[in-house]
Amino acid sequence: MSIRSTIQQIHHPLFDQHQLKVSVKRDDTIHPIISGNKWRKLQGNLAYLTKQSSLKGALSFGGSYSNHIHAFAYACFEQGIPCVGVIRGEAEYANNFTLSWALHWGMKLHFVDRKTYRRRQCPEFLAELQSRYPNYFIIPEGGSNQLALSGVAEIISELAQQTEYDTLMTPVGSGGTLAGLIVGDKQFSSREHKLLGISVLKGADYLMNDIEALISTQAIEQSGNHSNWRLLSQYHGGGYAKFSSADYEKILEFNKITGITFEPIYSGKMVLALVDLITQGYFGAGEHIVLLHTGGLQSLGGMIERNLLSSDDWSVPAALTNPSN
Ligand SMILES: *Cc1c(COP(=O)(O)O)cnc(C)c1O
Repeated sequence: MSIRSTIQQIHHPLFDQHQLKVSVKRDDTIHPIISGNKWRKLQGNLAYLTKQSSLKGALSFGGSYSNHIHAFAYACFEQGIPCVGVIRGEAEYANNFTLSWALHWGMKLHFVDRKTYRRRQCPEFLAELQSRYPNYFIIPEGGSNQLALSGVAEIISELAQQTEYDTLMTPVGSGGTLAGLIVGDKQFSSREHKLLGISVLKGADYLMNDIEALISTQAIEQSGNHSNWRLLSQYHGGGYAKFSSADYEKILEFNKITGITFEPIYSGKMVLALVDLITQGYFGAGEHIVLLHTGGLQSLGGMIERNLLSSDDWSVPAALTNPSN
């Protein structure tokens, strides 16, 4: 199996103080446009779709600045698959940073109001969409379904060839990525690693059930339960895409020290959790902790556009700065 992303050790005075080794699995560098876990999760989904001759397109869901919508639009463009994005919001959002790229890559945007968007998992609503877009394969928000797991599991297979480690940390939204890591750790590791998910959503304890449901039917069935994964729900920092100015400064400082850009919505919250856990003495001396950089750097474009971030401090990946449309 080929290695998709490198592993890079990072340095910080705090790591030395606590005698820890910390590395980053650079999934943000997998691809210049689609970064990280959304690319991994889409692999199995698009491969499935391409094999079914009855399917002629793909449909998925997201907010108007969604990393998933951005990655999904590009992946479908690259593979010549017609695609529809069911977007929470109004048609005027189509000019924003994320959706103008999605349109540029040929995605058809289907806007729905918040109330309708909340029904994105209701069978009735899905049936309506299916009749409107017959032969389109419906992929849930974030790309998190069973088909997503094998692509994420490959991260563990790559790590097995790259390094020895004790703990792997990942930010968590829908839980699909953590589920894929759990399945992969059963499949590809000779011993269980500690898998630590950092939830970026407020009140995310319900995710435990979602994750259990995703992993229950997969490899776990053959190889037993993984007993060493945790979902930490106290690091949401106020909720999805919210952060205090103190946290903002802490993430920026961490980025400066390590030389890697962690964005404040997902991977930045993992960084805040890491720093807090280290300070509390959560990790044992000598441990090697790997941070999964899940990418999502396109979101910086939308945050700069909305003045939530300053362009003095942040920039979007080069491949995304010059829309040619
Ligand atoms: C979507 C996303 C996540 C969360 O992944 P889930 O599989 O939904 O838990 C983490 N990081 C980034 C950058 C993302 O875009």
